[in-house]
Amino acid sequence: MSTRDTHPIRNSVIASVLTAGILYGLSWIPHLYAWCWARICELWRFLGTTADVPVWLIIFLVAGLIPTVRKFVGFVLRTRKPSFRDYREGNFIGAKWRWDYCGNEPVNLWCYCPRCDTRLVYSPEYHLYSASRTHFNCEACNSEVFCETGDKDYAIAKVSRLIERNIRIGEWQNFVKPRP
Ligand SMILES: [Zn+2]
Repeated sequence: MSTRDTHPIRNSVIASVLTAGILYGLSWIPHLYAWCWARICELWRFLGTTADVPVWLIIFLVAGLIPTVRKFVGFVLRTRKPSFRDYREGNFIGAKWRWDYCGNEPVNLWCYCPRCDTRLVYSPEYHLYSASRTHFNCEACNSEVFCETGDKDYAIAKVSRLIERNIRIGEWQNFVKPRP
């Protein structure tokens, strides 16, 4: 036997007519609606009053609410669709890079060792008659991870442009893990 409602419109009409009939019937009871309205007003005034309660009780109640709030926030975050602001890590020019956002712009961009995840340090190399270069090294692995022409700021700007490209063409979605 099917439990599906096969007459939703008919049932809605019957429910509406019944509700209207009950409300009309109640209107025959003298002062009923006025009494209900007075109770609602009293309740509203009561909610607006202050009460002396011990601080430990307030702390106890607030602490009891924390797990519920955490569950609610977790639910909201899980159901939120990923946005490009979830894209905060990627591999570029031989290293792992991480960043934050200020508006739509990646900021605090820096590189990490792809083998051990240590923050890289840089050492510029200047030439008199040719372009300078910058070496990015991992102190933990004691090795050079990559080397770029130009100074450190040029390497950061280059990666920033690559990130901006990935965001613009939608490729960032390939690097953001879908939520479970
Ligand atoms: Zn390393």
